[in-house]
Amino acid sequence: MSESSVKVAVRVRPFNSRERQEGAELCISMSNNSTTIFNNSTNYTKKFNFDYSYWSHDGFIEDPDTGLFIKDSPTSKYADQTLVFNDIGRGVLNNAWEGYHCCLFAYGQTGSGKSYSMVGYGKNVGIIPIACETIFSQIDERQNSNIEYIVNASMLEIYNEQVHDLLVHPSNRVQGGLKVREDPKKGVFVENLTQTNCASYEEIDNMIETGNKHRTVAATNMNATSSRAHTVLTISFTQIFYEENTGKPLNRKQSNINLVDLAGSERAGKTGATGERLQEGSSINKSLSTLGKVITTLAKKSDGSLGKNEVIPYRESKLTRILQNALGGNSKTTMIAAISPASFNFEESLSTLRYADAVK
Ligand code: ADP
Repeated sequence: MSESSVKVAVRVRPFNSRERQEGAELCISMSNNSTTIFNNSTNYTKKFNFDYSYWSHDGFIEDPDTGLFIKDSPTSKYADQTLVFNDIGRGVLNNAWEGYHCCLFAYGQTGSGKSYSMVGYGKNVGIIPIACETIFSQIDERQNSNIEYIVNASMLEIYNEQVHDLLVHPSNRVQGGLKVREDPKKGVFVENLTQTNCASYEEIDNMIETGNKHRTVAATNMNATSSRAHTVLTISFTQIFYEENTGKPLNRKQSNINLVDLAGSERAGKTGATGERLQEGSSINKSLSTLGKVITTLAKKSDGSLGKNEVIPYRESKLTRILQNALGGNSKTTMIAAISPASFNFEESLSTLRYADAVK
């Protein structure tokens, strides 16, 4: 795999209590970096290879037929939050230190474990809090009178192709959403988006907490769940290097670290959605498919196989437009595809694996 290509990890969550009660069958197995999805009743089996395949049953699961605990997928090790951060989060931070823009996406159907990987629950903190803590401890370790480090952060959500600032209370939202603009110097940016300067982990953590509260209030106001919106946390990390004797600024490295919890990838049609829900579903499907197209077109560009008249379709969705600077050019992309282990979700998991396979 070349240096510039997209890194893809698949993570399967454990059975939840409903799936256990209903005697759900397992439809996923993993071996080293490969993930296999199977359907015993139709004899369908498909194996995919990724950069990482993360198993999350603690070595044993309950056999629905016998009620006994069986050892499953003995060749894949149990992936906890620390392992996932060390494999993926650390790489993203290293890229940021080198001055690359980075995007880390969590893709998958609602309930598949996207928030668990990105944010975490309770003691099991996810990539975002660990990354925020790590960046400030790395800055502390690398303090140097000739280098200045600046961390700014913003948080937004995209719902029905409208961009909203999550650091603004939902009652003060701009009708129709914020405008996305392009500047010859700055590139693409969201106009009037709050940028918060953060001097410590506590400050960025408080900011994220505020953003998450607003996200929940906004979802409740719209009578929707927050899983119908894309959430983008952007950490802008700048290093300014000064000349030792004169104190003159010599050089700077700036990186945007975009940590994106994507809207649930389930198809709207499955739940019999109508009206507004259907509209939501179609804008989600459109933006997820555009994201896939942008990533695969960029891969063609980097290996020289992009056709003369082919353009990178950033403008086909707000998500890709906003992330344009961070997806093309000097940038690194990583995707975590989250899946359920249960055969009930076979179709959704297969579609997630296909998506992940296409972007890698
Ligand atoms: P999503 O964000 O995709 O809607 P969540 O992250 O909320 O899904 O996950 C749904 C449920 O599954 C949560 O209760 C979460 O704690 C649990 N879960 C998800 N992934 C894991 C995992 N790898 N290990 C343990 N529990 C998990």
